Amino acid sequence: MKTLDGKGRESRSEDSTVESLTFFQRFLQGTRTGGLFFLLAIVSFFVPILHFVLVPSFLIASLALGIQEFRKMQILHVRHFDCTSCGHAVETDKPFREWPVRLKCPACQIDLWFEKE
Ligand SMILES: [Zn+2]
Repeated sequence: MKTLDGKGRESRSEDSTVESLTFFQRFLQGTRTGGLFFLLAIVSFFVPILHFVLVPSFLIASLALGIQEFRKMQILHVRHFDCTSCGHAVETDKPFREWPVRLKCPACQIDLWFEKE
């Protein structure tokens, strides 16, 4: 995994892993996200006047966001990388589900992103 900073500098992250999700895991993520907005649509049904806007909006959002979550095929785990600008060793355990992955260096606040090799 390459770490880039937009100024042509790059470093390598050796212990980053890309985990492919199974169909069932993707289905669960999509259902969880879509279901949350579906519940909001049901709750907003009881809000006077605003329910004319809220219910269709949440229903559309439940479908769109559920499908969007379902289409995410991989999880990237970046555990350790070196900042390309200041060389600071950054530790993180946050999983990322979208490319490109963007992070800020906590030491120099420069924007960094990761690229597949
Ligand atoms: Zn830095």
